[in-house]
Amino acid sequence: MLGKTNLAEAAPESSAKIPSFDLTRQNAALKDELMQVISGIIDGGHFILGENVAEFEKEMARTCGVRFAVGVANCSDALYLALLACGIGPGDEIITTPFTFFATAGAIARTGARPVFCDIDPATYNMDARGIEGLVTPRTKAILPVHLYGQPADMDPIVDVAKRHNLYVIEDAAQAIGASYKGRPVGSLGDVACISFFPTKNLGAFGDAGVVVTDNADIADRVRMLRVHGSRKKYYHEVLGCNSRLDELQAGILRLKLRYLPDWTARRRQIATRYVELLAGTPQVRSGLLRLPVELPDTIHVYHQFTVATPDRNRLQEHLKARGIGSTVYYPLPLHLQAVFRDLGYREGAFPEAERASREVLSLPMFPELADEEIERVVEAIRDFH
Ligand SMILES: *Cc1c(COP(=O)(O)O)cnc(C)c1O
Repeated sequence: MLGKTNLAEAAPESSAKIPSFDLTRQNAALKDELMQVISGIIDGGHFILGENVAEFEKEMARTCGVRFAVGVANCSDALYLALLACGIGPGDEIITTPFTFFATAGAIARTGARPVFCDIDPATYNMDARGIEGLVTPRTKAILPVHLYGQPADMDPIVDVAKRHNLYVIEDAAQAIGASYKGRPVGSLGDVACISFFPTKNLGAFGDAGVVVTDNADIADRVRMLRVHGSRKKYYHEVLGCNSRLDELQAGILRLKLRYLPDWTARRRQIATRYVELLAGTPQVRSGLLRLPVELPDTIHVYHQFTVATPDRNRLQEHLKARGIGSTVYYPLPLHLQAVFRDLGYREGAFPEAERASREVLSLPMFPELADEEIERVVEAIRDFH
């Protein structure tokens, strides 16, 4: 076990508010080490794509069990550049889930391709692979599953369909660093994967940051070029890319925090187990009013979120709020109903499971420094919900 982050025992006063997410506890525990890293980079005088970025890329490739990693400005760009690197553009169709953060489908649309949505499995909230084959057309170029809330999508059937139709598989692993599927890490399950280091993700920077990981040398090479305006040699531009580089400061901070990630992930899983143990005994769960997250066998879920569901979701959120307990809805409106995608022509009712999830899900407080006593208080508050 590393360091001073005394996870599970940092219990604040019993009347204090319980936030949905809180970084201040973690930052306080790491303050000295963080300041050393930051100060070293300031003294080094090199701020963009330097030694820390190169080392962090190696560490990320190792973490994901692939040969290449390319640091970029954020995961939205990682998705966009990964799609471009696969040659995706106008006229192409990409099959993805409507129940995810906007960036998943936003990145597809930015390339000029069309997001084609596939409904979710209500047990896991991930894309239901059984729906994919019927959506494949001659224009389909890729399948883009999301490992939502930190749980890997059921990849075997997805990769099967992709192989049969010669499609790329691009993983949106923004929420799932450290997760695994049948013993293989997320990031190594398709042709290319994208991970976010937005501050609230399981491994967070102090600002925006992302990475593209792949075992495919051509894709890695193209992303490397695309992130610096499509140039291999400075001031000579082969293709239209953009400025999407990773800062030395972010890479240095991420390298430090990456050493703690296994401990943090273990604690997230311990918190999830505790929530499930305690909630399973409540009348709300026993009556079926409240549904608990389902962890598939053969997967390691990293609990970016611990998400429950109830038809009475909004009232439960208010009830928790009145007791000083934060909670969050990821996500209140599925992507096929977003105003920006009106032209795709989807109507309400098109994806009943995604629509139901958006009405019923609620993510409870989840971060590694959440104390056992706080978990108990959240569960007691839920037990009082009628
Ligand atoms: C956070 C997130 C992104 C975007 O990541 P950024 O680094 O904020 O651009 C993409 N997809 C999913 C599923 C996410 O949760």
